[in-house]
Amino acid sequence: MAVTSCTSALHLSLAASGFGEGDEAIVPAFTWISTANVVEHLGGKVVFCDIDLGTFNIDVTQIESKITERTKAILPVHLFGLPVDMDPILDLALQYNLIVVEDAACGFGSKYKGKHVGTFGDTGCFSFHPRKAITTGEGGMVTTNDSKLADKICRLRDHGAAMSDLQRHLGARPYLLSDHPDAGYNQRMTDLQGSLGSAQMDRADDIVFERSRIAEKYDNAFANLDWLKTPPNKVGYAHGYQSYACLFEPEVINENSVSRINGIRNSWMDKLQKDGVSTRPATHAVHMLSYYKDKYGIKPTDFPNSYAADHCSLSLPLFHGMKEDEQDFVIDKVLKFQL
Ligand SMILES: *Cc1c(COP(=O)(O)O)cnc(C)c1O
Repeated sequence: MAVTSCTSALHLSLAASGFGEGDEAIVPAFTWISTANVVEHLGGKVVFCDIDLGTFNIDVTQIESKITERTKAILPVHLFGLPVDMDPILDLALQYNLIVVEDAACGFGSKYKGKHVGTFGDTGCFSFHPRKAITTGEGGMVTTNDSKLADKICRLRDHGAAMSDLQRHLGARPYLLSDHPDAGYNQRMTDLQGSLGSAQMDRADDIVFERSRIAEKYDNAFANLDWLKTPPNKVGYAHGYQSYACLFEPEVINENSVSRINGIRNSWMDKLQKDGVSTRPATHAVHMLSYYKDKYGIKPTDFPNSYAADHCSLSLPLFHGMKEDEQDFVIDKVLKFQL
């Protein structure tokens, strides 16, 4: 189902599953803020879980300890396109009767054990924002195997109407308006955006292949750098490379060194920018952003790996159409880094 954004996809998934006031959702502390915001929008409580610094994904070994009587959902995030280890999450969901909403915003083309991400949970949520592998300007998509949930999502994205406009126009009495059993939302993707997206879908394999080709060249170029941890290549995990997120580790990362490394990373990013190479922190640690920090009274060190990822990560340029000499230029600048 096409929607206005991945944020809408996440929101509709939870709303359609009956997630609401007082319910708890487990969310990795290192992700884009909207994974957590949708929980807040529905009156729920965000329960953060730390990540594994080797993958930037939720640390699946810590999830069970976060489960309470109020827990209703887990939102695993396939961050930067690296699939989450879904098996233990699905086991927990079965055991504790939890909804699994996959944040696959970055997961276009990513596969876990041979299957596309976004097909494991109750729903999968994709983004077509300009930063993502395919884009409709703004846009998103929900995938699900559950036809009841699909119907509910379709109705909620369309003001809660019992019947879509198309069903009405094709029906016996197209001139009569639909009933609205729910107070829904307007989170429909426009036809114009849909046509942009479907044209790119025709080239999906090329787009995914090109991203992995560029990533592989970086992997080889940086294989011997012990201070730059490139994305892991693990058997059974096909990375979609929405971005090429690295861990900058010029010295061992711990509570005492994080700020110092952050200072070095920032001056390096500054230098790279002046040299013509744009880099970004991979994403932010949501528990450190004012809204969550203040509302839940969280300290950065409550989720030490997310804190470290926030302060010590770096994404290198990777985009469809990146030319050989452009990538060589980036590689050369990175290899010239000196402490
Ligand atoms: C981009 C992104 C989102 C938000 O997607 P929108 O389409 O901009 O709403 C959510 N989660 C993650 C992990 C993202 O990278």
